[in-house]
Amino acid sequence: MGKATGFLEFERIEEGYKPVPERVKHYKEFVIGLSEDDAKKQGARCMDCGTPFCNSGCPVNNIIPDFNDLVFQGDWKNAITVLHSTNNFPEFTGRICPAPCEAACTLNINDDPVGIKSIEHAIIDRAWAEGWVKPQVAKHKTGKKIAIVGSGPAGMAAAQQLARVGHDVTLFEKNDRVGGLLRYGIPDFKMEKTHIDRRVEQMQAEGVVFKTGVLVADLGKDSKVTNWAKETISPEQLKKEFDAVLLTGGAEQSRDLPVPGRELQGVHFAMEFLPQQNKVNAGDKFKDQIRADGKHVVVIGGGDTGSDCVGTSNRHGAKSVTQFEVMPMPPEMENKPLVWPYWPTKLRTSSSHEEGCEREFAISTKEFIGEKGKLTALKTVQVEFKDGKFNEVPGSEKIYPADLVFLAMGFTAPVSPILEAFGIDKDARGNAKATTDFTGGYATNVPKVFAAGDMRRGQSLVVWAIREGRQAARAVDEFLMGFSDLPR
Ligand SMILES: Cc1cc2nc3c(=O)[nH]c(=O)nc-3n(C[C@H](O)[C@H](O)[C@H](O)COP(=O)(O)OP(=O)(O)OC[C@H]3O[C@@H](n4cnc5c(N)ncnc54)[C@H](O)[C@@H]3O)c2cc1C
Ligand code: SF4
Repeated sequence: MGKATGFLEFERIEEGYKPVPERVKHYKEFVIGLSEDDAKKQGARCMDCGTPFCNSGCPVNNIIPDFNDLVFQGDWKNAITVLHSTNNFPEFTGRICPAPCEAACTLNINDDPVGIKSIEHAIIDRAWAEGWVKPQVAKHKTGKKIAIVGSGPAGMAAAQQLARVGHDVTLFEKNDRVGGLLRYGIPDFKMEKTHIDRRVEQMQAEGVVFKTGVLVADLGKDSKVTNWAKETISPEQLKKEFDAVLLTGGAEQSRDLPVPGRELQGVHFAMEFLPQQNKVNAGDKFKDQIRADGKHVVVIGGGDTGSDCVGTSNRHGAKSVTQFEVMPMPPEMENKPLVWPYWPTKLRTSSSHEEGCEREFAISTKEFIGEKGKLTALKTVQVEFKDGKFNEVPGSEKIYPADLVFLAMGFTAPVSPILEAFGIDKDARGNAKATTDFTGGYATNVPKVFAAGDMRRGQSLVVWAIREGRQAARAVDEFLMGFSDLPR
């Protein structure tokens, strides 16, 4: 522990944001990371409390007290070694993780938690700037061939781990670029895509072969998920050519809102809108891009995806942006003694909300209204959650003008024809069925086929995807070699 009295001397230091009028003009990141001095002070606040709840609050079990101390001591090189020992891609999580570790920080019981995420961000950015992040090429090859389907954080983490122990890894991706939802979904202003490109280069040097534009199996004819594949490979072909197959295809099936008027022009899934802007930012020409300029935009769904639609609509120059959430407004502050060290339900205002957004709670959409096939308004009603269901509040119907609606109500499951083509059993929610048990974990019912990430656990977080990718890599390595030295 660096400074015994640090938590008494120093206040939590937040990372800054560039001003709203400036940042809404572009799609670049706008978080101002901690200075070296501020990162040291932040590290000094860690109490090294003996039972580090932060460590189990973090899904990849980052060894937080150790890197806090190393940053306080100014030993940044060892800090990145500690951080990389549990997390392949801290530059992703240091930017977009909601930081459940901080909710679990012991200091959070009666004070502000240590700014763990900001320290993680500072360590990895420094490591890249200093040239400390290098390919780790396996000394011996095993001769085993592994196919990974889906290049999101789960597939990338698994591929990197497996290549580092000497396997020949090929990563298949139906879209034209690597990264999954990190690439097409999460806006560039939250995470610029050069961070993925750098890791792809590192992984190529480590021996991973990336095959983009290749769809494995079938999506079904009505699928609206992103697909820029130019060729298709069958599950049989993969199983024949590879010693093991790991499915990390995400949970891409958006939840729909089948109320009257759903077919009107102007009603879209969030995941039709967001990837188009990612593509434009990457320099691609996009015909008929969904644009929010000068329009009244309503985003249905109060989570991260909805918030990303808010930020993107404001950057387009929307006339108004309103976000609906069916649940009642949560309290501004959690009852800490009751909920600590768990992730609390409380009102969360994102940087996109700060850029301009009306937020409505306990509201449900009854109908999309239109003229000549085009959306013009929404009919809504206030709802109360009672006895396990939503009840309409009599007389609370309202009309909201709307030219564009984005449905951001979550994701139901993986696109099911893919799992069916492999013959994989599903769990009750339609995800690939596989346990996370120490022995036999991540294996599906189909011999030599494994599943991890959102495809196994349902739509979740980047940090959970990295954890599952790492653990599944160990399971595959053990299956092929009879033992594994990879961490779990
Ligand atoms: C808009 C949005 C914002 C989000 N914001 C955050 C955030 O701020 N913080 C956070 O922690 N999490 C966030 N999430 C959640 C997070 O992105 C996901 O939990 C995470 O990316 C899941 O990783 P994954 O590797 O399991 O799958 P994905 O990232 O979904 O990647 C799966 C990949 O597999 C490919 N694929 C699927 N089927 C096939 C096939 N048959 N053949 C070839 N390729 C295939 C897909 O094209 C995709 O590229 C967000 C999600 C969305 C939609
Ligand atoms: S990955 Fe997320 S939960 Fe883990 S230390 Fe970083 S910010 Fe915290």
